[in-house]
Amino acid sequence: MKIMDFTIDINTLSLIIKEKGWKRVGLQFPEGLKPYTKEVIQSLTEKLLPASIEFLVSGSPCYGACDVSDNEFLLGKADGMIHFGHSEIPNMGKSYLIPVVFQEMPSEILVQPVVKEVLNQGLLSGIIGLTTTIQFIHELSAANELLSAAGFDVRMGTGTDRLAYPGQVLGCSFSSATAVPQADMYLFVGEGLFHPLGITLATGKPVIAADPRSGLVKNMDAKKDKVLRQRYGAIQKLKDAREIGVVLSTLPGQMRRPLATSLIKKGGDHGKRMTMITTPHLNPMSLMNLGNKVLVSTACPRVAVDDYSLYLEHGITMATPIEFLISIGEMNWDNYVLDTIE
Ligand code: SF4
Repeated sequence: MKIMDFTIDINTLSLIIKEKGWKRVGLQFPEGLKPYTKEVIQSLTEKLLPASIEFLVSGSPCYGACDVSDNEFLLGKADGMIHFGHSEIPNMGKSYLIPVVFQEMPSEILVQPVVKEVLNQGLLSGIIGLTTTIQFIHELSAANELLSAAGFDVRMGTGTDRLAYPGQVLGCSFSSATAVPQADMYLFVGEGLFHPLGITLATGKPVIAADPRSGLVKNMDAKKDKVLRQRYGAIQKLKDAREIGVVLSTLPGQMRRPLATSLIKKGGDHGKRMTMITTPHLNPMSLMNLGNKVLVSTACPRVAVDDYSLYLEHGITMATPIEFLISIGEMNWDNYVLDTIE
């Protein structure tokens, strides 16, 4: 079935449910797909007839495969669950509390038109590192063919085990880009500006962002400068703060306990009063009530950057672990990179 331009393989999912003999099945959707939950249940139910399957739907926030609702569905007594829209994170080790099926949802939008636009604008030169997100990973070879036919030497790096595919990036891992240091620049084919921003900060090389949905093409240099100014401001706040909260995510795919512990220790050594704060999902309203004006997030690296203004509206400066280390003189601003989880 189709949801917007995304494909869900209802036939295969139904076969898996039948073969595994699941009678109660948990369904977990990313935020943007939650409005289509009822359509998915209807399609699965019709396909599974005459069997009668009970479906449970997670109402918790979900932004990535780092956040699998296995515990929630275990408590709901589900036999297994389906996590929609993300690829599995290989190094999470399949250590789930109930069986989990990851249903990737490829977009049917073709990437060739926007890659042609990049070529028409003459934005590329030298060796090109090619990257994308899971929604367009199946189109990467088509992009590669177009670029190669235009005479470019294209490389798709194999990153860490945080990533399921060569060329794939996550908001917490740009390791497929850093795996090709010989690239002179990178082309990111996908939606949003966070991933290409992370690639340019991780590699120090120019990045062109090409959005297959809107057809828009963007050089990331201006955005990079703007974000660097914002991050420099966060570091100044960290330097001035006497009290700092360190947020530790309790989601298995985001939890970095040793990192949080070391930040607490280092802050204490520098005369700061440090507090460890635990939560599965960061929420400015709840965090605001704890009274810390400056927080360091060891959870999803996107939070400190993407939601920076949201936290500022609640009187909180949200920083990354790397920014904290710069603020106490243990890292150098000249080598600034975005926080990642590998
Ligand atoms: Fe996505 Fe953040 Fe989870 Fe990484 S940590 S998979 S960027 S939600």
